[in-house]
Amino acid sequence: MQKWVEGTVVNQKRWTETLFTLQVEADVAAFEAGQFAKLALAVEGEMVARPYSFVNAPKERPHEFYYVTLPNGPLTQRLSKLRAGDAIYLAPRPAGFLVLSEIPDGENLWLISTGTRGADALGLVREPGK
Ligand SMILES: Cc1cc2nc3c(=O)[nH]c(=O)nc-3n(C[C@H](O)[C@H](O)[C@H](O)COP(=O)(O)OP(=O)(O)OC[C@H]3O[C@@H](n4cnc5c(N)ncnc54)[C@H](O)[C@@H]3O)c2cc1C
Repeated sequence: MQKWVEGTVVNQKRWTETLFTLQVEADVAAFEAGQFAKLALAVEGEMVARPYSFVNAPKERPHEFYYVTLPNGPLTQRLSKLRAGDAIYLAPRPAGFLVLSEIPDGENLWLISTGTRGADALGLVREPGK
C-alpha cells in the first residue's frame, strides 16, 4: 500500500491569530465519525506527519480539520501557510477508537473537551442519524 495520498487544499480559514480550519480534498479510505487523519508535509526531504481529527461527517466533502498553531511547531507552522491549490499528504487509512461503535449503548452521550480536542467531538455530533 502507498504510504501517502496526495491531497489538495481547498480552503484555509483563519479564525484567530492561532486557530485555523483547513479543508482538503483527498482520496483516503472511508472513516467513522470521531476518527483522525494523519496530515503530512515534506520538510527538508522528510515527511513530518501529525494526527488531526476529522470535523466533517463521513459523507461530507471536503475533509475538514481544526487546528491551533504551536510556536515552533514543525507541522502547524507550515500548515498555516498553505493556500487553496497547495498539495498536502494524508495517510491512506484514517484511525482512532473514539467512535460510536466503541461506545456502549445509552440514552445520553456527554462530550466534554477543551481547545482543539473539540474537533473529534464536532465530528461525532455531525454524524447524521445518531
Ligand atoms: C489522536 C490525535 C488527534 C489530534 N487532533 C488534533 C486536532 O484535531 N487539532 C489539533 O490542533 N491538534 C490535534 N492533535 C495534535 C497534533 O497532532 C499536533 O501534535 C499539533 O498540531 C502540533 O503539531 P506540530 O508539529 O506543530 O508541533 P508538535 O511538535 O507536535 O507539538 C509541540 C508541542 O505542542 C503540544 N501540543 C500538540 N497539540 C497541541 C494542541 N492542540 N494544543 C496545545 N498543545 C499542543 C505538544 O504536546 C508538544 O509539546 C491531535 C493529536 C492526536 C494524538
